[in-house]
Amino acid sequence: MNIHEYQGKQILSSFGVATQRGIVADTAEQAVEAAKKLNADTGTNWWVIKAQIHAGGRGKGGGVKLAKSLDDVKEIAGKIIGMQLITPQTGAKGKKVNKVLIAEDVYYPGESKPKEFYMSVLLNRQAGKNVIIYSTEGGMDIEAVAEHTPHLIYKEEIDPKVGLQDFQCRKIAFNLGLSGKAFKEMTKFVASLYKAYESSDSSLFEINPVLKTSDDKIIAVDAKVSLDGNGLFRHPDYEAMRDITEEDPTEVEASKHSLNYVKLDGNVGCMVNGAGLAMATMDIIKLSGGEPANFLDVGGTADAARVEQAFRIIMRDPNVKAILVNIFGGIVRCDRVAQGVVDAYKNLGQVNVPIIVRLQGTNAEQAKKIIDESGLKVYSAIALQEAADLVNKVLS
Ligand code: GDP
Ligand code: MN
Repeated sequence: MNIHEYQGKQILSSFGVATQRGIVADTAEQAVEAAKKLNADTGTNWWVIKAQIHAGGRGKGGGVKLAKSLDDVKEIAGKIIGMQLITPQTGAKGKKVNKVLIAEDVYYPGESKPKEFYMSVLLNRQAGKNVIIYSTEGGMDIEAVAEHTPHLIYKEEIDPKVGLQDFQCRKIAFNLGLSGKAFKEMTKFVASLYKAYESSDSSLFEINPVLKTSDDKIIAVDAKVSLDGNGLFRHPDYEAMRDITEEDPTEVEASKHSLNYVKLDGNVGCMVNGAGLAMATMDIIKLSGGEPANFLDVGGTADAARVEQAFRIIMRDPNVKAILVNIFGGIVRCDRVAQGVVDAYKNLGQVNVPIIVRLQGTNAEQAKKIIDESGLKVYSAIALQEAADLVNKVLS
């Protein structure tokens, strides 16, 4: 589950990671109040206004702006809230901004220029270890650094049995070219960042930039955090950070009915039980020249009601021109699925896309009977390849 920058920073702070201070706002007026409060707390007279969306590259897209007066704050916040922000990570449609983070300016002019580093913590699945990835070249062009000067990106693997060691924190601070106070601050930063990552059951913490201020403080200026959905039950406070306005509304609806649904761009709707069979079904659709419109696993215990919900969700996608139902009846009984298909067909009114059904396994015979006797225009197939060919035939 992805969360917003301001929420990621809350988690970081709670583990003692030094972060740029900020207050979230829904309106321009709230933004001004937030700026005043930050001024009272930190003395800052400049603020950054940051669009809160679940995507990076906001700086490049015009979603991060410096304000040098309270009037600036009001004007900029007013413009950013409600805008459709397009960044290199949102796709052409962009994302609507509902909230902004008003943060203290930490790039304040000083004797030395602030330095932007890159740091992330994630799981290296191949190695079975967490890894800290870091670079001296942080900021908005880290993708270009990775492409053109990959030797400037360092990796530090952490053995899960012993955890992050002090020498590793010192090595990171050393490789980042730090000394004196900044070196010490960085070792603390790395240790607390890793603690935050581990304790929150996260799959990613990406801090870009990590800033060395002109007075040698090390602070997190940005935070991209992905929490592991499977660990959320251990963290009800993080679960509450979910922002469903950032998610695909059909996927949200599907999850309410315990359906595992992911929307894709093709035109063949798929209704399948089991993730493995769903993947195989999508593969065979593609191999036969079609394009799946979705991934949908109705689960191992699907009943007629759930199948009907699944149908409603598939049918919401206007791109769907045919539906392939591929069910292997093990625990789930084929006759129940067939009943679900028939009910859905009737309850949904005019279903004007062809449906191809492949039901195999427990009670497959009864299932076939239910479908045949329903008088509906449903094609049935025995072999998977046969089903995929039928899909293409009805589409062409
Ligand atoms: P992203 O573009 O979505 O990754 O958003 P970031 O939070 O990383 O912000 C983008 C850029 O805004 C940073 O790389 C900085 O250059 C700039 N920025 C962020 N905070 C401040 C600040 O306090 N003061 C100034 N002057 N610039 C900032
Ligand atoms: Mn960033």
